[in-house]
Amino acid sequence: MKEIILAKFGEIVLKGLNRSSFEDALERNVRRRLKELGAFEYWKAQSTLYIRPVDDGIDVDEVMDRVRKIFGIVKLARAVEVDKSDWQSIEKAAVEYLKEQLTAAKSFKVVSKRADKSFPMGSPEICTELGGYICEKFPHIQVDLHEPEIIVNIEIREEAYIHAGAEDGAGGIPVGTSGRAMLLLSGGIDSPVAGYMMAKRGVIISAVHFESPPYTSERAKLKVEKLAAVMARYCGAINFHCVNFSAIQEAIRDNMPQELFTIIMRRLMMEIAQRICEKEKISCLVTGESLGQVASQTMAAMVCTDNACRMPVFRPLIGMDKSEIVAVSRRIETFDISIEPFEDCCTVFTPKHPKTRPVLEDVVKAQEKFDFEPMIEEAVNSCRSYMINAK
Ligand code: ATP
Ligand code: MG
Repeated sequence: MKEIILAKFGEIVLKGLNRSSFEDALERNVRRRLKELGAFEYWKAQSTLYIRPVDDGIDVDEVMDRVRKIFGIVKLARAVEVDKSDWQSIEKAAVEYLKEQLTAAKSFKVVSKRADKSFPMGSPEICTELGGYICEKFPHIQVDLHEPEIIVNIEIREEAYIHAGAEDGAGGIPVGTSGRAMLLLSGGIDSPVAGYMMAKRGVIISAVHFESPPYTSERAKLKVEKLAAVMARYCGAINFHCVNFSAIQEAIRDNMPQELFTIIMRRLMMEIAQRICEKEKISCLVTGESLGQVASQTMAAMVCTDNACRMPVFRPLIGMDKSEIVAVSRRIETFDISIEPFEDCCTVFTPKHPKTRPVLEDVVKAQEKFDFEPMIEEAVNSCRSYMINAK
């Protein structure tokens, strides 16, 4: 029996003239994600991307799992494909393909979509015929048009496609249709969610991570790489930049007023991130900040941080509660990695009493007392960059 996956486009169908470029981006992303699983045939018709495994032995569960995470798809269904010219073989295939579900269920109904208007049977007739055949083969099961346990869907398109219902896809719009952004990626709960949310709106995500060896360990960095690999299931491969931040943090500790450590550190992170962006031709930043969550995320602190930025800073979590962020991070499977107990450079030299309402002039004045420039340059030049693929 030939299985096929029907992936229905979401919002992109609304995009008018851009529609085909959105659809192409989506197809490219799907191809990229499935390539290593074997050979597939792809085609698009009626707001649906058809994904047909060509090789025998392709793990269709794994295919579904991957396609489920690709933005731009609202619904996806795993179906059996049958030659539509032979009604008897359609009936046989339906019963064979859905045997387990039909055996377990007490009630069902048939829903038919007839996209091919030249098909000799009308929708009501398709439902009656197939419904009758199912009742014959599974005498225990009843037709229930209102609350059936299982819906047998039959779509007559290029061929006949039969499935037990479509599930929700990842939604959003295809990655690659909204430009590129640099995510400041820590090992925490928030920033992976922030990256996921921007990717959901079509943004290609690069990431920069600041480490402070020996204050932070190799394992802390491995944890962040692991997070990036999970994010990449949704975002696509991530261009990852790892910056050694130790010298700068020591300079902050030795030369800046303690209550401004965090805010000045954040300004310097932004500066370094922007220089990497300029090299990579990326024009905006993303962080996992949420208003009021910690001292460095008050409105006043963000004013001071943004003052160090020449680029827009997107903060997709700004209005979310921690519990809401946690819920997303569990769903996208970054949570369990995020809570592994490794230190982050932000927790190195943290002041006992950080200023929650830093005054911009004071911050700028303090920062000007020390020449960070050579260290910034060194940090940017020694940054290690590599791709992290989905795992
Ligand atoms: P997260 O859970 O994302 O770490 P947080 O609530 O711990 O966030 P902070 O540690 O203050 O908050 O960090 C705020 C934001 O700054 C993070 O969401 C992230 O975007 C960025 N950031 C913090 N630490 C790092 C780091 N070591 N490398 C890169 N970016 C970082
Ligand atoms: Mg953090």
